[in-house]
Amino acid sequence: MHQYYIALTEVPILIQEFDLSVEANKVLLQGDKYSDSGAFTFWGVTLFFNLGFCGMHAVNYGVAWNLYGATVLGINLPWTLLCIRNYIIVPTNNAQRTFCIVFDCAVTKSFFRNHLLLQFVSTQGFIQSEYFTLMLLDIVSNSSVLLLIIKSITSPGASLGMVLYLFICTLVIWASFGVEHFNDMLLVPFWDEEIQKVNSESCSTTVSCFWFMFYSQMAGGGGDLKGEMRVVSPGGGQYLARMAYDSIFFVWVGIILMNIITGLMLDTFGAMRENEARRKDIRSSECFMCGLLRSEYTIGSFEDHQHVEHDPWLYVHFVAYLLAKDPSKDTGVESFVRAQVLRIVPSHTSIIFHVPIDDF
Ligand SMILES: [Zn+2]
Repeated sequence: MHQYYIALTEVPILIQEFDLSVEANKVLLQGDKYSDSGAFTFWGVTLFFNLGFCGMHAVNYGVAWNLYGATVLGINLPWTLLCIRNYIIVPTNNAQRTFCIVFDCAVTKSFFRNHLLLQFVSTQGFIQSEYFTLMLLDIVSNSSVLLLIIKSITSPGASLGMVLYLFICTLVIWASFGVEHFNDMLLVPFWDEEIQKVNSESCSTTVSCFWFMFYSQMAGGGGDLKGEMRVVSPGGGQYLARMAYDSIFFVWVGIILMNIITGLMLDTFGAMRENEARRKDIRSSECFMCGLLRSEYTIGSFEDHQHVEHDPWLYVHFVAYLLAKDPSKDTGVESFVRAQVLRIVPSHTSIIFHVPIDDF
């Protein structure tokens, strides 16, 4: 029910905000540039690299339509939609306006996206019942604590993505050097059922070594390469080289990169909790309407002042009542409030749009 309430209130607000920003842009742009032609600059570059990747992959490894479909649908399609959205600053027809509103809803309003996912998962559940278990994740939408934790991962998403990219670059470098110089030492363990012990063989190409290292590092490796390689004894030919190879990887990945990832998440989490606490503190110690502080209010219960005397909803109701009422039937008090309240707060505009700059 709560979700439907949000859908009923937030979508009209989004549409209204969109229309207001379009009006503001109309004034600002003076009609000459209602679209941003620069929005497609990187679109062509991405398409070129994507097609290049698919072409090179097809030449080297044979055609894999699933992979190409995933790159086109997963990268090109969302990227194209984003470019189209950025291109339209002021929509010139209804189709453009509808596209912008649906796009903004899907991107900025998480309830809309989550609902679509929920619909997909629940439908899929009737075909394969394990999909029903995914619906347990709905707790994230309903718990503010869990939402805070998820946000501490998603809001530094760009920085985390760059660190992950650096991690992948590191693995590519280590896999290339490993194949070239320690090829017989990189081990792929496999379980031999007959003799019940772990045997191993080495990976043979840069790509297979990369995936092997990626898997073992992501699944608990934590910067430790020693466990994936054959042991070398002191005095052996490659002992010093192996020492450098393993230690630099451990310091770089295990200590520096892992701590950067943890630090980014913890910092965001800490900052968000601080904001939350500050917001709670302000809400409990300051009157929303008049700004009086709890310490300044000495003649009675401050809670009564906040929730009875200066209940913000009473003001909202009164303004809503005035907006719905015919101004010619206002009483003296009502016309006074209408003149004061309804015009004093600027809404999506500023004096700079109405007064020539020279007059300042
Ligand atoms: Zn007050």
